[in-house]
Amino acid sequence: MGSVTTLSDAEKVLEVADAVVLGRQMLADPDWPIKVRYNLPIRPCIRCNQMCRFLSTREVRCDVNPELGWEILPPLEREGGGGGGEGKGEVKIVGGGVMGMEMARVLSLRGFEVILYEKGALGGQLNEIKDPYKKEEFSKLIEYYEKELKRLGVKILLNTEGKEGIVAVPKERQPAFKHYENKTILVNSNLYAYQDYAFEWIKNNEVYVTQNVFKGLDRNRAYLLEEKYRELGVKIVKDRVKADVVIDDVRKTQPSIGQSIAKGYWIARNFHGVW
Ligand code: SF4
Repeated sequence: MGSVTTLSDAEKVLEVADAVVLGRQMLADPDWPIKVRYNLPIRPCIRCNQMCRFLSTREVRCDVNPELGWEILPPLEREGGGGGGEGKGEVKIVGGGVMGMEMARVLSLRGFEVILYEKGALGGQLNEIKDPYKKEEFSKLIEYYEKELKRLGVKILLNTEGKEGIVAVPKERQPAFKHYENKTILVNSNLYAYQDYAFEWIKNNEVYVTQNVFKGLDRNRAYLLEEKYRELGVKIVKDRVKADVVIDDVRKTQPSIGQSIAKGYWIARNFHGVW
């Protein structure tokens, strides 16, 4: 339940059932049925189980859809919406990660001519993910933005450093991947990047993780990650072990895709022509 995200998923269900109900995908993109009908890019649910399960706010939100919960606001489009869609002229954005891509989408819908500069490939830090399961989900999000920005006419300049414009780079980036070989590595950190790098490190090293690695994950994600680690030979330990490389970094909160997308959305929504 909640993992039917595409038309072909829905059609498979209909081979064995009379009706299909989409769960999380409708939070990620409530226009799914219309977009399917007109073959438009659909924002995918990346099955992250983050903000839609973050019930301490007593509201359901979604990491990839910053408009969820803000339906009271007027729509963004230029014609007839009254949602601030009066944008005129050119806007440059520096950074083609999720923040920059979301900014480009919203500014374009508001009527601006958008140029997006990215020094590498679209997707920014998402391109560094090692966990093959996560990578598959997140690459669908990048694909969505690629198609949607193309449809909206955003000019995208890849492998190009932007010199001026709105800088769309998160305040804090995830730690960069370091290659190790024949080492003992102890991961005592719940940072998403380290959870992920263990998938790569285990190929050439002995990797230990403490219970802190699962801190902050919902039950399902913690369970699945634990299963995957066991399958790959990552050892889960109660107490710290001696290791060549020790990573200690346990956080209460940490940067997320949802925060970056929301930031891009709100900057673009409130943009009035000056940066
Ligand atoms: S928060 Fe994540 S899992 Fe939940 S609906 Fe949004 S994309 Fe899907």
